[in-house]
Amino acid sequence: MTDSSVFIVRCPLCGIANRIPASREGEAGRCGSCRAGLPPLHSMPVTLDDNSFDSFVNAFPGPVMAEFWAPW
Ligand SMILES: [Zn+2]
Repeated sequence: MTDSSVFIVRCPLCGIANRIPASREGEAGRCGSCRAGLPPLHSMPVTLDDNSFDSFVNAFPGPVMAEFWAPW
């Protein structure tokens, strides 16, 4: 494993950089310093559909980049 298996998520409250293992992808964590909630890490695109789109986007605290496509 290389360093790419760990990501840095900055705490929105205290600004401390938290090291998040890539294996915890998609889980909401807690800041190691102030215990504030950290947004879930997503380093890879997530496939959403009609049923999951609204709940995912509404629950995510940061900006979301979406690509829309339709099957033939
Ligand atoms: Zn914090």
